[in-house]
Amino acid sequence: MNKTSDEAVDDDPSVFHCTLELRTEGDWCRGLARVEEDGRILFDEWIATRALIASLLGNTQEPVMTCSCTVPECAGFYDQESRLSENLVHWSLRYEGRDLDLLFDRNAYEDAALAVLKHFRSHPWEDAEFGTVPYEYKEFEDFAKLVDNMLASSPRLAEKWNAPQIATRPAGGGS
Ligand SMILES: [Zn+2]
Repeated sequence: MNKTSDEAVDDDPSVFHCTLELRTEGDWCRGLARVEEDGRILFDEWIATRALIASLLGNTQEPVMTCSCTVPECAGFYDQESRLSENLVHWSLRYEGRDLDLLFDRNAYEDAALAVLKHFRSHPWEDAEFGTVPYEYKEFEDFAKLVDNMLASSPRLAEKWNAPQIATRPAGGGS
């Protein structure tokens, strides 16, 4: 346990090179992890955007994957950690009784995360009662401030945020 990204090996059955695919569903943020080798989906569940933001900035033990009720264990996720290295984002977690190490290409992970954050940042909500993103923040301004602080503290992310290739309307947007 507690392997670093460098020590993770390809022939370990619990280590997967994955892509993180994120989407919006109304005020919800949802994400799936797809195994690059065979396209298999390991899980498709709700995303805690506070933890997602933390994982873009460094190492965190805040659970990124969660349940619609905001209790990660309710959706089967335990012991989540995310570690950032030069080229990888490395999640370790226990899901459905299995210890998994998921290795994401850092650039692709950042692009996916920034696209959904950009969507929510540009679609302020008012008095929302439902949705993982409103659940996490008292007010839209709290979310906006967190995103803006993230961009202020990371020139790398700010540059991507302002780059034209990041979609401003991911699937599931709309009015
Ligand atoms: Zn639940």
